[in-house]
Amino acid sequence: HTETEQTGRDNTKKMKIEEVQSTTKKQRIATHTHIKGLGLEVTGKAIPLAAGFVGQVAAREAGGLVVDMIRQKKMAGRALLLAGPPGTGKTALALGISQELGTKVPFCPMVGSEVYSSEVKKTEVLMENFRRAIGLRIKENKEVYEGEVTELSPEETESVTGGYGKAISHVIIGLKTVKGTKQLKLDPTIYDALIKEKVAVGDVIYIESNSGAVKRVGRSDAFATEFDLEAEEYVPLPKGEVHKKKEIVQDVTLHDLDAANARPQGGQDILSLMGQMMKPRKTEITDKLRQEINKVVNRYIDEGVAELVPGVLFIDEVHMLDMECFSYLNRALESSLSPIVIFATNRGICTVRGTDMSSPHGIPVDLLDRLVIIRTETYGPAEMIQILAIRAQVEEISIDEESLAYLGEIGQQASLRHAVQLLSPGSVVAKMNGRDGICKADLEEVNSLYLNAKSSAKLLQEQQDRYIS
Ligand code: ATP
Repeated sequence: HTETEQTGRDNTKKMKIEEVQSTTKKQRIATHTHIKGLGLEVTGKAIPLAAGFVGQVAAREAGGLVVDMIRQKKMAGRALLLAGPPGTGKTALALGISQELGTKVPFCPMVGSEVYSSEVKKTEVLMENFRRAIGLRIKENKEVYEGEVTELSPEETESVTGGYGKAISHVIIGLKTVKGTKQLKLDPTIYDALIKEKVAVGDVIYIESNSGAVKRVGRSDAFATEFDLEAEEYVPLPKGEVHKKKEIVQDVTLHDLDAANARPQGGQDILSLMGQMMKPRKTEITDKLRQEINKVVNRYIDEGVAELVPGVLFIDEVHMLDMECFSYLNRALESSLSPIVIFATNRGICTVRGTDMSSPHGIPVDLLDRLVIIRTETYGPAEMIQILAIRAQVEEISIDEESLAYLGEIGQQASLRHAVQLLSPGSVVAKMNGRDGICKADLEEVNSLYLNAKSSAKLLQEQQDRYIS
């Protein structure tokens, strides 16, 4: 009991908050960068083309209502399901919803099949993604002394440093603050740090503090020397005026905190050391660590230092999840630390994985009961062309009307995604052909080189006997 408590406290002390870099899965949403929201009027009506969104009017308006429900905390314990054929903008819609909730709201996309990994438990994968979708906004009040190094007379040195400075250097630091010379009585440790940095008379130096303790010292805002506030090195801040006060806001997710605080796996034996060398980034996030993080987070929230920002967890191809995942999800949705969960599916009635029951969208009935369902519709040629034009603009690819219309046709025959994906090879071919913009011939060339999913499947079917089955 005592030991757990002890390590618990130690861990808490060492939690790294400031140096955490957000690790949201950027690649998955790279093709949706043009989506900036749902593009609705204040009345909730969808503007035909707004916020990067084209068409899909009913679904966007329904999405807007869900955003209102989330704001009014009426989605607690519930989730959203987007149902529609492939390539009808379900991911785009989920992203739009998350952006309507705020610009710094985390959006974590995943595919149902991701839970099947040989190394990690299914619920572990789900848990990690849940934590990627819960944000924390940390507000830090930074106090920074800014001063200029002046040369002091031996008497001044004596009085400012208590004689300590004289022993190390004849140039000793008196801080000329912005409001006039102020000789701050600094702790010897700070002198040491400044001298190590070879500060000279006339240099501007900064001392950053955090609630009364000196945190970092340096010749610039980069702060070369850092003090461990939790260790014995505690250095009290000199009494004096604070000349800069900045509020620094940092947005991280619970998963970022987990990852930053996870220790490399394994003990001290050679084998595990080898393992670490070969997989240097491998870290282990345990339940215990997560509980510790939660404790710290809750403390920060209580103290008003941090604020919780529930984000959006988007689970595509929800029919790939099995019974174990669904029961986990049922429980997780009840938790007070839950993001908004948006499922997507293109399936009708199918069996729930891991059972012999069939159910709408392959989702068990008890979870279906919790869902708000939005349908997405297939796009017509005009809408596809508009979407393609937006993507071309975002990717800085110039393309003429005729080529856009041709790409639109390809989109209708194959899929919107396939058509969008032809844009960048198209522009490469255009450049090889000595043109700046794409013309129809470039696209014809590219289209003859790549199979889309449908024609590939057709080919396989026609030539079945030539493949191993
Ligand atoms: P789904 O999840 O239903 O398969 P998606 O959102 O992944 O659809 P894609 O099929 O990948 O959409 O669509 C290709 C591209 O078209 C993406 O860049 C997507 O952002 C964009 N897109 C889809 N629907 C719209 C829309 N209504 N307005 C603007 N862009 C859209």
